[in-house]
Amino acid sequence: MQKILISACLLGQPVRYDGQSKGLTDPRLARWQAEGRLVTLCPELAGGLPVPRAPAERQGTRVVTVQGQDVTDAFAAGAQAALQLCQAQGIQLALLKEGSPSCGSGQIYDGRFAGQRVTGEGVTTALLRAHGIRVYSETQLAELALALGEG
Ligand code: SF4
Repeated sequence: MQKILISACLLGQPVRYDGQSKGLTDPRLARWQAEGRLVTLCPELAGGLPVPRAPAERQGTRVVTVQGQDVTDAFAAGAQAALQLCQAQGIQLALLKEGSPSCGSGQIYDGRFAGQRVTGEGVTTALLRAHGIRVYSETQLAELALALGEG
């Protein structure tokens, strides 16, 4: 059975920077959970950051908070934790929250804290993809189902 790494906030865990979740309601997700496919992680917590925490955005190879603190190392540690979890459990598929500086897979914020999204990916997504793990966003459940062979 193929497992799926999933952003903890998409499963309703209140781990976002603002202490909120982004729980996703979808019958496919509920079924995958019942089947025991879902492996939950919040890379930013795994990297040692607290809840709540200052919002952060990617600026080139660095990640900085809105107050200008460099949190690149914590984001990199979280990405490594996600990769190690995938490798330990043979996970080849991930469902990660779009827009996040860790979990985004198609869009992230542009680094100016102005609410502007640009094409890009989060730190965890980039590391997972570099190791052959396919990353989908919450808007791509149909594609993920296909990848699971549920076409
Ligand atoms: Fe959700 Fe990922 Fe942000 Fe954690 S790092 S709150 S899992 S989007």
